[in-house]
Amino acid sequence: MVSRLADLTDRVAVVTGGARGIGAAYVRALHDAGARVVVADLLEDAGSALAAELGERARFVALDVTDEDRWQEVVADTVEAWGGVDVLVNNAGIANAGPIEHYPRAKWDAVIAVNLTGTYLGCRAVVPAMKAGGGGSIINISSVEGMRGSTHLHGYVASKFGVRGLTKSLAVELGEAGIRVNSVHPGFIDTEMTAKIDPSGLPIPLRRGGRAEDLTGTVLYLAGESSAYVTGAEIVVDGGMINGVGH
Ligand code: NDP
Repeated sequence: MVSRLADLTDRVAVVTGGARGIGAAYVRALHDAGARVVVADLLEDAGSALAAELGERARFVALDVTDEDRWQEVVADTVEAWGGVDVLVNNAGIANAGPIEHYPRAKWDAVIAVNLTGTYLGCRAVVPAMKAGGGGSIINISSVEGMRGSTHLHGYVASKFGVRGLTKSLAVELGEAGIRVNSVHPGFIDTEMTAKIDPSGLPIPLRRGGRAEDLTGTVLYLAGESSAYVTGAEIVVDGGMINGVGH
């Protein structure tokens, strides 16, 4: 069934971290809208199972987003198999936390490597293919934590602010090539990453935690023609949390 939110028939989309969590919801939504979807993830079993379930318009590729050479192979394979790359969703991410005195360099390096450097490498890898195809849409998944400070989350926050800055700079640089680059800023979304957090204690005006499906409409919008004049934008999907809560 083609989704009513976007018609992505014949478009090719790559979703990093697409095997589970929110990434798997993006994969399903893009596929449902008619796209051919590459599920790119470390998790071979879950990624292969998802691609097999979706059928011939989906394929799994093993990808560590911090691996520059592997990015080149994934894009080359996708172009060979399906003729190009129209949409990239840089979704793979990790989170870690701790008071600054007990937050070792290794944790900082890991979160910056996956969330920020992985996003940069993905953008860099797909740009030649998108230029060759006459344009494209890059959707970088940041966070509300890329818009404010947060105790103990400094590495994650810095990485997600970085994704936001990278997005705005590439939107300026790549507009002429017809490549749109936007960021999405989820609030609390119920996944394995947030399994230890109780959303009822969070100041969310809509009074519930988010689900992966709460984000798919935004990604479909940014992937498709309805957002043809939108680039460098940041879309917050957080139940209103960033605005504070009333009494
Ligand atoms: P999950 O931890 O549930 O899923 C993340 C996926 O990314 C996993 O499949 C994971 O594989 C994969 N991944 C991690 N590292 C790499 C890597 N180096 N290369 C390729 N794939 C990798 O996270 P969520 O679904 O919750 O989050 C998805 C994105 O949304 C992240 O960028 C996150 O920061 C962001 N976000 C999430 C929020 C939330 O509340 N959940 C809120 C705001 C933003 P593996 O399991 O093998 O590590």
